[in-house]
Amino acid sequence: MSALKFHQFACLSDNYGVLIHDLQTGDTASIDAPDADAVENALKGNGWSLTHILVTNHHWDHTQGIAELKSKYGCHVIGPQAEASKIDTLDETKNDGDQFTFGGETADVISTPGHTLGMINFYFPKSGVVFTGDTLFALGCGRIFEGDANMMWNSLSKLAKLPPETVVYCGHEYTQANANFCITIKPENQALAQRAKEIDSLRAQGKPTLPTTIGLELETNSFLRVGDAAEFARIRTAKDNA
Ligand SMILES: [Zn+2]
Repeated sequence: MSALKFHQFACLSDNYGVLIHDLQTGDTASIDAPDADAVENALKGNGWSLTHILVTNHHWDHTQGIAELKSKYGCHVIGPQAEASKIDTLDETKNDGDQFTFGGETADVISTPGHTLGMINFYFPKSGVVFTGDTLFALGCGRIFEGDANMMWNSLSKLAKLPPETVVYCGHEYTQANANFCITIKPENQALAQRAKEIDSLRAQGKPTLPTTIGLELETNSFLRVGDAAEFARIRTAKDNA
């Protein structure tokens, strides 16, 4: 059994924060730092103290809370080597294929450029959990701000190869709009239609639609169900203009 606990919370307008807590060592990591107050409230609610921040990308809605949390907790900040020049609070930088120990587990660093050029994701194989930042969303993927469609397609393809039962936490609650878009691409996908109903019901109750799993995304996410990078690019452009 995994010794890691995961706590997801909504913050800002549509971001998610996630805390990872190791029951044995007491180590606690925040995935990104979208909002220092929200992270602190989540820590207090669980009785945890912050030891690490794991940063996926340099955008403000993932980094703006780092400095304040670091000054309060003295936590160790790990983030993408390729964006080190844009994030001045990093203590340690990581590249694709790097590993590090958090609590009693090994984390694998997966580079997934596209949304930003240096985006990294954190995969915990023992727990079967991946943090996909703004690369893979439930029923969607990040907008391609810094990279190109080929790059994003390659990044999503890496995530698609993880075991289907892998639990996916991502940076934003965009699922309902993504579902509406995916249905326009594949109205005959029954698993998608069913999932869209569940999503509508969750959102009507103000509940999160995350986390998801790689298997569920492979079944229903139009961005993962395309055959090649060219088809992916067409769908990404259609979504950008939707
Ligand atoms: Zn974001």
